[in-house]
Amino acid sequence: MYAEILIEYPTKKIDKYFTYIVPENLQGIISIGMKVKVPFGNKIINGFVMNIIDNYNSEYELKEVVDVVDEELVLNKELMDLGKFIQDKTLCPLISAYQTMLPSSLKIKDNDTNYNFYKTYIVLNKSKEEIKEYLKNYKKINKQSELLNILLENEKVIKKDYSVSSIKSLIEKDLVKEIKEQEYRINKESNKLVVKHELNEEQQNAFDVISNCNDDTTFLLEGVTGSGKTEVYLNLINSCVNKGKTAILLVPEISLTMQIINRFYDWFGSSVAVFHSALSNGEKYDEYLKIIRGEVSVVIGTRSAIFTPLENIGIIIVDEEHSDTYKQDNTPRYNAIDIAKERCKYHNSPLVLGSATPTLETRARALKGVYKHIKLSKRAGAGTLPNVQIIDMVEEVKKKNFIFSEELINKINDNLKNKEQVIILLNRRGYSTTINCSNCGFTYKCPNCDITLTYHKSTNNLRCHYCGYMTKKEDKCPNCHEDGLNYLGLGTEKVELEINKLFPDARVVRMDQDTTSKKGAHERIIEDFKNLKYDILLGTQMISKGLDFPNVTLVGILNADSSLNIPDFRSNEKTFALLYQASGRAGRSNLKGNVIIQTFNPDNYVLNCVKNNDFNSFYNYEMDIRRILKYPPYYYLTSLKVISNDYNLALENATKVCDYLKKNVDETSVVLGPTTASLFKFNNNYRFQIVVKYRFDNKLINALKYLDSIYINDNKVNLEIDIDPLHI
Ligand code: ADP
Ligand code: ZN
Repeated sequence: MYAEILIEYPTKKIDKYFTYIVPENLQGIISIGMKVKVPFGNKIINGFVMNIIDNYNSEYELKEVVDVVDEELVLNKELMDLGKFIQDKTLCPLISAYQTMLPSSLKIKDNDTNYNFYKTYIVLNKSKEEIKEYLKNYKKINKQSELLNILLENEKVIKKDYSVSSIKSLIEKDLVKEIKEQEYRINKESNKLVVKHELNEEQQNAFDVISNCNDDTTFLLEGVTGSGKTEVYLNLINSCVNKGKTAILLVPEISLTMQIINRFYDWFGSSVAVFHSALSNGEKYDEYLKIIRGEVSVVIGTRSAIFTPLENIGIIIVDEEHSDTYKQDNTPRYNAIDIAKERCKYHNSPLVLGSATPTLETRARALKGVYKHIKLSKRAGAGTLPNVQIIDMVEEVKKKNFIFSEELINKINDNLKNKEQVIILLNRRGYSTTINCSNCGFTYKCPNCDITLTYHKSTNNLRCHYCGYMTKKEDKCPNCHEDGLNYLGLGTEKVELEINKLFPDARVVRMDQDTTSKKGAHERIIEDFKNLKYDILLGTQMISKGLDFPNVTLVGILNADSSLNIPDFRSNEKTFALLYQASGRAGRSNLKGNVIIQTFNPDNYVLNCVKNNDFNSFYNYEMDIRRILKYPPYYYLTSLKVISNDYNLALENATKVCDYLKKNVDETSVVLGPTTASLFKFNNNYRFQIVVKYRFDNKLINALKYLDSIYINDNKVNLEIDIDPLHI
C-alpha cells in the first residue's frame, strides 16, 4: 500500500505529491485527509495524505510513512475539496489552504505536544456481587469500605477527592482500578432561566422566510442597529438544531461579541463550540475534538471557524457581514463569506448575511435579486433611533474649541448631571500619513481617483497610491491660504487629558490598542462600563460595533474627517458604517439617544446620510461614484504587490509585471501602475502595487498564474496577488 503525500516543506511552497510506502502497522489506520509524518531529505516533516493506492512502480527506493500526527484530526472529503477551491480562488499553494483549516495547535513545529487533558477516576474492578460479598466479611467501617460502598452507588468517583492510601490498598487487592478520561477545558451549561423574547412581526417574518428555505439561497438580513438580529439568529439556529442539523455563526471579533456568545451558551450550553484567537492552544484543540466527535451542533467563531468540520450543516450565519475581518490579509487571502457560500452549496443550506450597513457589493446583489433581501426596520426593544447632530468645527476653531465643541461639552455635562453614560469615539486608523488643514478642513485628493493623497516625508510630496499622481506639499493651505496644514494626529491620550480638564469629576475609561493588549482587558472594560463604574468610555473604532449599553444616551464622534480621508476607495463606505454603527450605541433602552458628529466638512454628503439615518441615499450616491471610477461592485479588482528590500529590483520587477499584464489581459480590463503601495516601506521592504480593474476577463487568471509561478520561489523579489482585495 502506498500513500501520496502533500508535504509541508518549511521554506519553499512545493505543491507536489510525493509517494511513500504505508508500513503494515499503519495500514487500516491511514486515511485520506490525515496528517502524517514522513522523512524528507534528512528531516522528518508533516504532510497530508492525498491519495491511497495499491500499486506503484518506482525507479527509486521509496521511503515509509513514519507515523500519523493525530488519528482523529482528519480533513473530510468536503474540506479536502474546499482546499482545492481556495487554491483556485486565491492562487495559494494547496498546502497553505490545508494548514489554514486546522487549528493552529497542530501547526506548531513540535507536534509531540499532547493537548489532551485528562481527569483520573476510580471505578470498581470486580462485579457488584463480588464487592458486596467482600464487604460482608468486612468487620469494621473504614475509609476503604466507605469508598467501596460509594462505588456500589456511583459508577465512578474523582480520584483526587479520596484518600491516596486507601485507594492504593484497594488497588492492590484488585477491587478497584484507575481510569483516565479526557476532559474538555471549556464546559458551559445552558441557562434554563434565560429570557427568550417573543419575536416581533418583522423578526418573525425573517425567521419564517429563512427557516422555510430548503436550498442554498443567500439572504441579506438588513436590520437597523438594535433591531434584534441576534434574537433571529438564536431562533434560526434553534430550529436547525431541532431538525438534527448543525450551524455556524461567524462573528467579526470575539472580544466585542462576548455578549452574543454568552447568549448562545445560555440557549445551547455544551452544544456550542467556540473558535477565536483568545483561546489557548489546548482550548482550541478541545473545541476542535468536540466537533470532530460530533458532540456539538453550533459553532461560533471568527473567520477561521468557517473551516470547522461540522457535518450536516443546516445554516451558516455571518454577523456584521461588512466587517473587514472576514478577509484574511495573508496567504491564503480568502474571504470567509466566499467559503461560507461554497459550504452552503455543498450542504444545500441557506446562508444569512446580517448587517445594519452591508457592503455595497452585498446590497447591490440583494437589490438585483441575487440574494434575498429581508429587512428589520425598527428597534426591537424599547429604544428608538437617536437624534444625530452635525457640528461645524470650522466655527468652533474660531472660538478656540479645538477638540470638543460647545454643544458636545454642554451635552456631556447634562449627561453627567443625569447620571447617564457617554461614549466618545476618536477614529484613527490606517498607516498612511495624510495632511489636512486644521483651519478649514481641506485635504489633498487625487484628481483622477478621488482618494486622499499620501504624504511622503522623504520627498516632501503627496502621491496617489492608485494611479501614481504626484503633487508638491505647499506651505500654506491651498484652500484658505492660512498656515493650518497638519498631519492628522489627534490621539486618544490627548483627548483623555482634555476630558480630565473639562470634566474633572467624570470617571473616564479609555479603550484602544494600548489599554487592551492584555488578555481579558477588553471584557473587563466593557463589564465595568456596563456596571456603571465609569461615566465616559473613550475609544477608537473598536468601541463602535456590537456593544449594547442601555445607559448610554450620548455618543460624541470627534473628527469624523479622519475616516473620510483614509486613502481608500472604500473610505466613504467605511465612514458611513462606522458612524452609523457608533450612533447605534446611543438610546438602546427607553432613554432617548443623542449623537454629535464633529467635522470640518459639515456639508459632506456621507455625514448627512448618517444624520438622516438614510442608507438608501448613501447607497445611491456611492454607487454613482463607484460606477464612474470603475470600482466594485461595477468592476472587480485584483491587486498585485511586488516587494523587495532592494528598491531598484522592486521597481524593475513591478514594471515587468505591469507590462506583462497589459499585454496579456483582456482589452476591456484596466491595468494601473506600478505605483507605491499604501504601506510603501514596511520592514525595510519596498512595496510597489499594480491594480487590475475588470468585468469579464478570461485571460486574467492564466496571466496571474503564470506570474505567480515565476516569483513563487524567488527569494529576492516577492509577488503578492490579492484577488478581490478589500483595500488597495
Ligand atoms: P442588533 O444585533 O440587531 O443590533 P440586538 O440583537 O443586540 O440587536 O438586540 C437589541 C436589543 O433588543 C437587545 O437588548 C435584545 O435583548 C432586545 N430584543 C431583541 N428582540 C426583542 C424582542 N422581540 N422583544 C423585546 N426585546 C428584544
Ligand atoms: Zn490617482
